[in-house]
Amino acid sequence: MSTAARPAFFDRTHTDDLIAYLGTAPSPFHAVAGAAERLEKVGFRQVLETDAWDATTGGRYVIRGGALIAWYVPEGAGPQTPFRIVGSHTDSPNLRVKPLPDTGSAGWRQVAVEIYGGVPLNTWLDRDLGLSGRLALRDGSVRLVRIDEPLLRVPQLAIHLDRQVNDGLKLDKQRHLTPIWGIGEVDEGSLIEFVADRAGVPAGEIAGWDLMTHDVQPPCYLGRDRELLAAPRLDNLLSVHASAAALAAVATTDGGDLPCIPVMAAFDHEETGSESDTGAQGPLLGNVLERTVYARGGSPEDRARALAGTICLSSDMGHAVHPNYSERHEPGHRPMPNGGPILKVNVNNRYATDAIGRAVFAAACEKAGVPWQSFVSNNAMPCGTTIGPITAARLGITTVDCGIAALSMHSARELCGADDPFLLASALKAFLEG
Ligand code: ZN
Repeated sequence: MSTAARPAFFDRTHTDDLIAYLGTAPSPFHAVAGAAERLEKVGFRQVLETDAWDATTGGRYVIRGGALIAWYVPEGAGPQTPFRIVGSHTDSPNLRVKPLPDTGSAGWRQVAVEIYGGVPLNTWLDRDLGLSGRLALRDGSVRLVRIDEPLLRVPQLAIHLDRQVNDGLKLDKQRHLTPIWGIGEVDEGSLIEFVADRAGVPAGEIAGWDLMTHDVQPPCYLGRDRELLAAPRLDNLLSVHASAAALAAVATTDGGDLPCIPVMAAFDHEETGSESDTGAQGPLLGNVLERTVYARGGSPEDRARALAGTICLSSDMGHAVHPNYSERHEPGHRPMPNGGPILKVNVNNRYATDAIGRAVFAAACEKAGVPWQSFVSNNAMPCGTTIGPITAARLGITTVDCGIAALSMHSARELCGADDPFLLASALKAFLEG
């Protein structure tokens, strides 16, 4: 058997950039900043929701909290020009800092945390955690902060003190998930003072914060032939990164004569149900699309006509077949890493894909020369959901759910194929071209 490295299906420039992106995006706020930075490099400019918008062509984006909507208006776009939207989400399950964070027990200094989203709690044990998020300052400004160093840890109880641990680990969400960050008496205010120091602002200037923990171990290629990618937050920053790359590529290669307006919509709060001003249930995307129609001189009738021709491709992580639990998967539909993007189907509308959407997705993959796979749940297993059905219901537009096959979804560290991010970005680009 050869021991030579498996030849890559393509060059890994895209995945290398994804690795760099993941490292700089431990929070949704950093995720949108990193996406905006990539779009700015190809000429996109930020517009403020409080400003008047004009009809000029080119790339624009809006940031609100942990959400970003970006779009590219090609030459010749009219008020009825339909949109092609790629949807994704910027948030990942994690442990977030409580309002009065300084706590402790038995001579340890600890930080009180709240559990955000569907966290497999065991995956956060014995990891070296950093801290990131945003600070709201008294002058009304917002400062992002990222502390990428081993600062906190949720220590697991030694097996000697829990002999039944391998019969099933039981963790109490309130008692057993509190990270330690030092030894000594509880020191009121010390966490925010520490964060303020790292952010370079006086602690007294901080009037509010959204802070969360992240595993500081960097992403890496994994496996005998390095064909896998181990990383935090693949769900769903892989899709956010791929959609930014696809939109940037569309804008730079064929922005002049597109039949549609390509859009990237990266929402926050998917992991908690999307019901927020920056989540997919909020009015953000609809408002942005509407305002771009009106900025081009359109009427409500034009808006309705543009939306009638609009399609959304919602991209989120899905399940690859797990070798140790293969019976939990649908036996005839077993997505594998590096098999290309997956089309997600659920007839009970946990996914929005239908026949029309399948045809659109298949055409985009075919145009991009990208293989693709089908995902459907085992009937005996519950099916997850994502922003696709929400966007379809909220805006009344044709929506397709797709994604990338992964293992360890929602774990502090997930696993997917190293070729798949580029395959997804290629398919998204072909879709955005209309
Ligand atoms: Zn997700």
